[in-house]
Amino acid sequence: MMVRMPSLDAATLLMVIAVFDAVACVVWLLLGQVLRIAPRASRRISAYHGLLALAWWPLIPPAMEGPMALPLTIVAAGLLTAGVRGLMRVRYAAWDLVAIVLVALAATAVVLPDLNGARVVANACGALLALMAAWDIALGAGFRIGLTGVVVLPYLVLAAGCLWRAGGLLGWLPPSLGLKGLANNAPLVLLRLAVDLAIATGLVALVMQRLIARVRHLTRRDALTGLLNRRAVEELLSRLQAQVDRGRRHAVLVLDVDHFKRINDELGHAGGDAALQHLARVLGETLRDTDGFGRLGGEEFALLLPDTPLDGAMLVAERLRRLLQDQPLDWGDKVWPISASFGVTLMRRDDPHGRAALARADAAMYAAKARGRNRVLRSAEDVEPHA
Ligand code: GH3
Ligand code: MG
Ligand code: MG
Repeated sequence: MMVRMPSLDAATLLMVIAVFDAVACVVWLLLGQVLRIAPRASRRISAYHGLLALAWWPLIPPAMEGPMALPLTIVAAGLLTAGVRGLMRVRYAAWDLVAIVLVALAATAVVLPDLNGARVVANACGALLALMAAWDIALGAGFRIGLTGVVVLPYLVLAAGCLWRAGGLLGWLPPSLGLKGLANNAPLVLLRLAVDLAIATGLVALVMQRLIARVRHLTRRDALTGLLNRRAVEELLSRLQAQVDRGRRHAVLVLDVDHFKRINDELGHAGGDAALQHLARVLGETLRDTDGFGRLGGEEFALLLPDTPLDGAMLVAERLRRLLQDQPLDWGDKVWPISASFGVTLMRRDDPHGRAALARADAAMYAAKARGRNRVLRSAEDVEPHA
């Protein structure tokens, strides 16, 4: 019995793309709505795939480049770039994308009896939006250069293809070089399939990158205050120690809230937690980006100050001490004064992982407690800066 293989014609390939897009539409919807992974971006990407599935569906005549399908592809291109931005956590709004899509739709409506004119509009808009997505990924993905190139490449190919097609339709290219439409151009549909698969794979890479960043964040942060946790402080200390061994000068500061038990006793555990969050916010706001601020546990915190001499670190500690003292905690109908005792030291060469520096700062902090609390003390082992 003869089995007739379907030929690899454009219509079959379009069907393959449409099925792929339909599946991707459902997968992204599940990722976003059920697993709650980047829900907003996932919704946009799901909608992008869904619209493309409709646009590519060869059973809806005329497929892809017909007057029905062109607006779908324009909106889909906008959704893709908006989805990319969502995954990148790009801060600026999507109004530029909305504007581009609306202008393209209006232009399509104006020229529409002229199908070729509408194709030019759709392709120009597609190229612009693909380039914008590539731009956002290149700036925001945080991949290594090579990986960024791989993820961005399909967008560049897509943009080039769109511009090429538009140029051909406008008669800017010799007719022999113009691209025939997808509906009867199997090699081009094959290329388009490859580009779509590459874009879809890249989107998965972006979402993975985001998940990895989230996990890294969670394993390095203290859940209550959002500050670095003990492990992250120790990692940073280790890194700074390597620099100290090469001649740089970093300071370490340990602080512990005074009479924290009383806060817990008077305001309850939730009040104590609020006091810790208050301290993290008040002190954290005034620090430099390069300073490492972490919670060592309980109501004890560490501050790592790169490239800071001892007297500079003493000034920082004194400033923080005053800041805390001047901003009591508002808790319910109570205003509760909070103070802390500070110990300061300089990191030294040949201190394994900087642990001795942390211990010196801790000892100085306890000495500050012994002297009456709410004060700053340098480690007894540090020489006087002006001696
Ligand atoms: P001192 O001035 O000598 O530091 O007195 P203190 O009361 O602050 O010192 P101590 O270390 O004896 O008490 C710390 C208390 O902090 C004990 C513990 O119940 C409480 N604590 C530790 N972690 C947390 C937390 O995450 N939330 C709250 N609310 N309390 C905590
Ligand atoms: Mg305490
Ligand atoms: Mg303590």
